[in-house]
Amino acid sequence: MDIRDLMIPYGRQCIEEDDIVAVSDALRSDFLTTGPLVEAFEKSICEVTGAKYAVAVSNGTTALHAAVYAAGIKPGDEVITTPLTFAATANAILYCGGIPVFADIIFETGQIDPKEVEKAITKKTKAIIAVDYAGNCCDYLLLKKIALDHGLVLIEDAAHSIGSKYDNTNVGNICDMTTFSFHPVKTITTGEGGAVTTNNLEYYELIKRFRHHGITRDKDKLTLDEGSWYYEQMELGNNYRLTDIQCALGISQLKKLDRFSQVRNEIVDYYHKRLDDIKGLRCIETTALCEPTWHLFPIILSLDELDVDRRIVFEALRNANIGVNVHYLPVYLHPYYKQIGYQSGICQLAEKFYQSELSLPLYPLLTSEEQKYVVDCLIELLMKYLKKD
Ligand SMILES: *Cc1c(COP(=O)(O)O)cnc(C)c1O
Repeated sequence: MDIRDLMIPYGRQCIEEDDIVAVSDALRSDFLTTGPLVEAFEKSICEVTGAKYAVAVSNGTTALHAAVYAAGIKPGDEVITTPLTFAATANAILYCGGIPVFADIIFETGQIDPKEVEKAITKKTKAIIAVDYAGNCCDYLLLKKIALDHGLVLIEDAAHSIGSKYDNTNVGNICDMTTFSFHPVKTITTGEGGAVTTNNLEYYELIKRFRHHGITRDKDKLTLDEGSWYYEQMELGNNYRLTDIQCALGISQLKKLDRFSQVRNEIVDYYHKRLDDIKGLRCIETTALCEPTWHLFPIILSLDELDVDRRIVFEALRNANIGVNVHYLPVYLHPYYKQIGYQSGICQLAEKFYQSELSLPLYPLLTSEEQKYVVDCLIELLMKYLKKD
């Protein structure tokens, strides 16, 4: 097959003329940061998700930090999460002094296994962070029951899953708190950006204060009355604010979520149509009750049917200018996590998943000619390496 000249990335943003106009309007306005567009963006997030409250923050990582903080995680508290995620999910637990406890995945979907979560619960467990891997949802029917039975806070890392639904409820309105990322590779973008949604007023107020150094101007909360200029820092927050410029882009992008979701899912349908019956790989399954907006299209190589490992397939596709990627090295296998005491073998299915996973390009601007090229190259490659019996 002829190799393309230009690399097809695995993901990229879709910025249109009206997005650019929205940002330039913000630049010409009186506010560059904390102005009217922050609240307007938060209102749009509430409308899209159905959540009561939303707080826009500087990125998906600070959204996770704020949620773990609001959940009241203190040094020594255990928080159960999946190893099959970006390190930021588990890092947020460490920022609060908590201990990440990794529960293994369901191999077919890549989602955290509720049975493993239940096994990992101890007297010190305070919360669960579930991650909607690839845009598919976790089994929230079971996870919510476990959280309720054991008095745990359930946080959903929805960096991949804005626009997805579970049991007819929008992501953002399912768990105690939901965190989003608006990095350019995610479904909608603000450059850098993130948000937390919740239906709980107490969490909402804590997160809003945390975003702004832990400072309040609320008369009912102040310890002194020094006049209308007066504010007090109540706790150790940070500057995790999102700018008006970024919120302008976010408002404009959120209006396109339905269209972006539809295009992403059409690309996924095409991948399934071409790949479902191909020997040497399998596609991941959708969780029951979930209607995903797909963020990634992971394939799992059937390594026992092939004469090669993932690395060879990966390099061959990259050499054909196809920007495949790998999601993810199980978090506890990173050197930092090993240094703080984690060992390999904790979650064997996640490790096996990692060994055989590849993510194919998926983003709204991927053309049908590019999709066909990706699939043709992949099939040709697998045919070459399929074991003869
Ligand atoms: C992208 C991502 C994050 C972090 O978001 P940033 O906006 O890059 O800080 C967290 N969790 C998951 C699963 C992600 O994919």
